[in-house]
Amino acid sequence: MINIVLFGPPGAGKGTQASRLVKKYNLFHLSTGDVFRFNIKNETDLGKLARSYMDKGQLVPDDVTIQLLISEVEKHPEVEGFIFDGFPRTQPQAKALDEILTQRGTSIGMMLALEVEEEELKKRLTLRAIDSGRPDDADPAVVQKRIQVYNSETAPVLDFYRAQGKAVLVNGVGEIDTITDRLYAEIDAVIG
Ligand code: AMP
Repeated sequence: MINIVLFGPPGAGKGTQASRLVKKYNLFHLSTGDVFRFNIKNETDLGKLARSYMDKGQLVPDDVTIQLLISEVEKHPEVEGFIFDGFPRTQPQAKALDEILTQRGTSIGMMLALEVEEEELKKRLTLRAIDSGRPDDADPAVVQKRIQVYNSETAPVLDFYRAQGKAVLVNGVGEIDTITDRLYAEIDAVIG
């Protein structure tokens, strides 16, 4: 079994592709954004805190997000392989993830980084806003901020996995099925 980081800017298709990969490889999908949204819906204290950052397109602080990730991973001792979607988004988060998995006797097998250029991301997020009901997709200024935060704070995470020889870049433009096939090919090459 393998643990995968599915990486890429907002609108790259991480959620869509993750739901396909979980089925084929029997992985557990862990999206920090989904967990935050669940907490917002249920009006928890964590939800209220997360919302104050998400509505502005900013990252939720590392200490809160790392604690959340630890508790989500610990909730599932039976899981043999995770697909991390939207985590890690900073280098400290990437280091924390390595530590959490080491304690569990496992590690990240590969990082799949979906590459999509900025204009295409903005188009996709504008379309997604119609169905997603996500306030952070509906406001162009927030979308712009999320892309800017990705470039400044999250893109360096790629170097973290590059240094470990685990980063694989995947063209994230094209038919959804075609992109899924590209991801399958990269995973199969690693798991053999
Ligand atoms: P996502 O669903 O992955 O697009 O995440 C939506 C929003 O949730 C982001 O714009 C951040 O505000 C917050 N978020 C999700 N994951 C993280 C993370 N790993 N670190 C910090 N903030 C996060």
